[in-house]
Amino acid sequence: MSTNPYAWLKKSLDTIKQADWYRSVQTIQSSPGAKVTVEGRSLINFASNDYLGLAGDDRLMQAAMAAIQEFGTGSTGSRLLTGHRELHRKLETAIAHWKQTEDALVFSSGYLANAGTIAAIVGKRDLILADINNHSSLKSGTTLSGATAIEYAHCNVEDLHQHLYQHRQAYRRCLIVTDSVFSMDGDLCPLPALLDLAAEFDCMLLVDEAHATGVLGTTGAGGVEHFGCTGRPLIQVGTLSKALGSLGGYVAGTKTLIDFLRNRAPTWIYTTALSPADTAAALAAVKVARQDPERRSQLWQNVNALKQLIAYQLPHRQFLPSNSPILCLPMETPAEALKVGQQLQTAGIFAPAIRPPTVTTSRIRFSVMATHKLAHIQQLVEALKTL
Ligand SMILES: *Cc1c(COP(=O)(O)O)cnc(C)c1O
Repeated sequence: MSTNPYAWLKKSLDTIKQADWYRSVQTIQSSPGAKVTVEGRSLINFASNDYLGLAGDDRLMQAAMAAIQEFGTGSTGSRLLTGHRELHRKLETAIAHWKQTEDALVFSSGYLANAGTIAAIVGKRDLILADINNHSSLKSGTTLSGATAIEYAHCNVEDLHQHLYQHRQAYRRCLIVTDSVFSMDGDLCPLPALLDLAAEFDCMLLVDEAHATGVLGTTGAGGVEHFGCTGRPLIQVGTLSKALGSLGGYVAGTKTLIDFLRNRAPTWIYTTALSPADTAAALAAVKVARQDPERRSQLWQNVNALKQLIAYQLPHRQFLPSNSPILCLPMETPAEALKVGQQLQTAGIFAPAIRPPTVTTSRIRFSVMATHKLAHIQQLVEALKTL
């Protein structure tokens, strides 16, 4: 009797559909921005990570095109073989200056930066303590590292302290891992308290600034700057693909850490270097993000405008606690999240329904951009009134 060893795939998909967890792609047919064309309709875009509106910025596009003309499209190899260009070094220097760290290293994505860094710095004899709401890439890094992992309650310093007290001694090295802005909630980690615990228990601390870079802090350097923790003993990871409007990831820290990662991070050593176009666009974006603070203040004005309009006009609608441009409306069930996402889309608003297994409770996630006009935000509030 012959059986089909792939038959389980269809069954598994059916189960996903029955739970309202099924996902599929929607095609964007325009350039990125505050308004996008989705499946033929123009919608106001509250679904993008392009917080500063740089992904469609002329300066980034010009830089990318110039880099293609000079260096071609592909980087042709890993950084240690044929992939390294002067542009990569320039970008790393610019990131290190911005973060005020000794050095930085650019990866081909934020996901790879997280996974490879964690895998490089801890192993089987070590302990990872991770916020339960951390991004998937941090969890992948944990698996890849082979270290023992314990999740602590979300942003709960007491719970973390308890775990450290109980378990730290039994392990060689310990790494505390956290998002700085939680990607699906929008709240911030208690960074100063985490740093204090790290010092007390002789732990390394890795903070993922994916949604904070370009967004938080006076110069946009991120959550570390926002909390006044610049210069403290930290490993900062982030992405070039969100507020910086390009593609790629980075790690910023001491010279020794970066040198170590160049020798030990598998996701840096064994993958092709970031393309010239992406590198040049990110370099241009770092300059804009640092030199154009008005873009950042416009972003925060928009965030506050949306929060205020909701508070005054829709007092029964409460966003989840947030200190970032990520604002989430909780939904009872995945089915409700899907329905509301669809209703908003009909009303001209593009915002995703976030469901398990990405999060434990469903929600609609709005991300505000610097390039939203007040009218866009008002239209969102009007659409929410009709729900
Ligand atoms: C998006 C994201 C990443 C991954 O970054 P990419 O550059 O998109 O791979 C890592 N961490 C967090 C918290 C993110 O939201």
